Amino acid sequence: PSPSATVLITGGAGFIGSALIRHLLADTGITVVNIDKLTYAGNLASLPGAESHPRYHFSRTDIGDAAALDALFTRFEPCGVIHLAAESHVDRAISAPAAFIDTNIVGSYTLLEATRYYWQRLPENAQRQFRFHHVSTDEVYGDLHGRSGRFAENAAYAPSSPYAASKAAADHLVRAWQRTYGLPVLLSHCSNNYGPYQFPEKLIPHIIINALHGRPLPVYGHGLQIRDWLHVDDHACALWTIFCRAQAGAHYHIGGHNEQRNLDVVHAICTLLDQLHPPALHPATAHLKTHAELITHVADRPGHDGRYAIDAGKIERELGWRPQHHFANGLHHTVAWYLNNPQWWQPLLHPQADTTETAS
Ligand code: NAD
Repeated sequence: PSPSATVLITGGAGFIGSALIRHLLADTGITVVNIDKLTYAGNLASLPGAESHPRYHFSRTDIGDAAALDALFTRFEPCGVIHLAAESHVDRAISAPAAFIDTNIVGSYTLLEATRYYWQRLPENAQRQFRFHHVSTDEVYGDLHGRSGRFAENAAYAPSSPYAASKAAADHLVRAWQRTYGLPVLLSHCSNNYGPYQFPEKLIPHIIINALHGRPLPVYGHGLQIRDWLHVDDHACALWTIFCRAQAGAHYHIGGHNEQRNLDVVHAICTLLDQLHPPALHPATAHLKTHAELITHVADRPGHDGRYAIDAGKIERELGWRPQHHFANGLHHTVAWYLNNPQWWQPLLHPQADTTETAS
């Protein structure tokens, strides 16, 4: 895109979308239009200072609202779309899948159609340069449990959860819109993200916040599930690199070469908290020697995948992207960020924040 172009970003008030927008406003000249419905997971406090930024616009819009999307395309004339809006929490998908079908499948379809109507009216040169980038997940490939190797870009789809199945469905729609209508699409699949501004229901913030309150730290089953963790700022950089440089139709995997067992991540958080927030000095944890005493194994999640691992070799070779955050440092900064920013997460806590729910 030209340095002063405009990009529509859906889900920009969420965890990854807000990291991408913070990056674009701080480090580029791009104008950002943030389209977000502000579900429970959307939070404009994740974009401090953005509302007064001259290159930032916000529209509280559902991606299922075709008329609103048409109006936004006409008003802002973007050079592309980066689509992150989704229902993203696996446990919620198990207990109430309907919203995942509505947003992740039907919403993505509605956004693709609004994009196509706009794109077809563009002059030929602008059509060629346009990109629709769908941000997807390694969970569409299902379980690598008991198998060696990592998911490469040609891995077969085998989603296990309603969340993963809904993301897989959107991936297929995106590819079909390229093949059938010629829409210039991009697709990326990323592993588990961590970092600041992640909603408290997700594994790492959930463990940090429960530990601070002296509450049980729920771990599914034996906690031996393996995830490949990537810092959210590394994901944001990868997305922007792909959007700017990839050929239309390209597909990239994004990961941190950083496989960790869930139980080890929980122990690492406890060790960091023992140093940064010694239990003896705080009333809620004064009875503990170490936060790890709070770890509680709970019944495993239905259909829980044992291992995900991403082969990110293609984006490294072709686009020169590499993760910049080492996991130990990134986790240290993340724990410190939650300790220093309770004003961000306290208002988001559900009264049942101490339930056994956890996620990854
Ligand atoms: P999130 O739940 O933190 O944010 C999702 C955002 O989408 C929220 O701001 C929400 O308000 C918005 N949204 C939901 N439904 C909407 C709708 N109908 N219309 C408009 N906005 C809507 O999610 P996240 O963790 O930031 O994930 C962003 C994207 O990245 C998702 O598509 C997810 O599948 C994908 N992804 C996430 C991870 C991860 O580890 N978090 C890893 C790989 C891929």
